[in-house]
Amino acid sequence: MNKVAIVGAGVIGRLCAIELADSCSIDLFDKQDLSITNACTYTGAGMLTPYCELDNSEMSIFEMGQLSIDYWQALNDQFDCGFKKSPSIVLAHQNDQSTLSMFLSGIEKKLGQNVFENLDKAALHGLEAELTNFSSAYLSPNEAQVDNRLFIKNSSDFLANKISFKNESVDPAELSGYDWVLDCRGLAAKDALPDLRAVRGELIYLHAPDVSIDHIVRLMHPRYPLYIVPRADDIYIIGATQIESHDMSPPSVQSMLELLSAAYSVHSGFAEARLVDVSVNCRPAFPDNLPRVSIDNSLIRVNGLFRHGFLISPVLAQTVADLIHGRELNNKMKEFVSVL
Ligand SMILES: Cc1cc2nc3c(=O)[nH]c(=O)nc-3n(C[C@H](O)[C@H](O)[C@H](O)COP(=O)(O)OP(=O)(O)OC[C@H]3O[C@@H](n4cnc5c(N)ncnc54)[C@H](O)[C@@H]3O)c2cc1C
Repeated sequence: MNKVAIVGAGVIGRLCAIELADSCSIDLFDKQDLSITNACTYTGAGMLTPYCELDNSEMSIFEMGQLSIDYWQALNDQFDCGFKKSPSIVLAHQNDQSTLSMFLSGIEKKLGQNVFENLDKAALHGLEAELTNFSSAYLSPNEAQVDNRLFIKNSSDFLANKISFKNESVDPAELSGYDWVLDCRGLAAKDALPDLRAVRGELIYLHAPDVSIDHIVRLMHPRYPLYIVPRADDIYIIGATQIESHDMSPPSVQSMLELLSAAYSVHSGFAEARLVDVSVNCRPAFPDNLPRVSIDNSLIRVNGLFRHGFLISPVLAQTVADLIHGRELNNKMKEFVSVL
């Protein structure tokens, strides 16, 4: 049985552990305890929205994302990840309709077809009766979400008897005695991956019992694009900023004003909401915003998940498992794997 060290218990480290736990002996290292409240994975909104993400990403992210939705659904049968099918409603205020049109035409061009369903006023209000500030919208049906914090908690329990967790900060290149070492340290791997960069993101958890929205809502806006992700118990995630900066400092007033004003413009019920959490972290990204799996003898580094960690980690983790077990790689994944 292969002995494998995984350094980093964020979404990619955990999914690698889950993929390999039955066939390998796993030591999972993290400098934090398993609740990883300072990891990017704890901040991320958990959306699995390959269609809407195509606005700013490559077809390969879309393809990985589509495969990953099925994986999350199957994983949710093993333990509760808060997976649910969550079609997105995309809309814009009257003055910003051209931004919405550009979003739709950009995605249509990449896919070669229009996949967004046009909702007139009656159809929109049939789906979301409280979006009365809008008289039309578009629906992206095949999207989903996981609850990242539930996933962190329940995957820790799920893995407890299958792997050995070590609450230590280690350098993957210095570990010995393993057949394979996986470097899943996110941004902390910048020491070994110099072109990795940080993209700051801030998001807000609101408790809003005066609001009833079931779909993920994306507001197109030329300056403050926004998403609203409904979670259980009247919680709504309002996100997210995207700022080219390695800055982990607390949220800025400007970001909070923009996110909350945009949310209020979607639904006035957010005025009486309570801010229950504000979360900040930096997304690990390479210059092309695509992930990389690099193999240096027995050391495999997986990184650059950018704004798609939940969307693409399942196929990346399966690729790592294929490498370790000497299996043929999925053709679509070959371009992301490099042997140093
Ligand atoms: C605001 C925001 C919203 C987002 N929304 C989404 C979304 O809706 N959908 C989506 O798919 N993605 C989203 N993302 C992106 C996603 O969160 C990231 O891509 C993903 O979490 C990166 O995961 P990771 O495992 O690579 O890194 P991390 O989550 O940062 O995990 C790295 C782990 O390594 C540990 N570590 C570091 N150094 C060491 C060491 N030396 N020894 C031991 N342990 C170490 C850290 O403690 C940490 O736990 C969002 C990100 C942000 C910031």
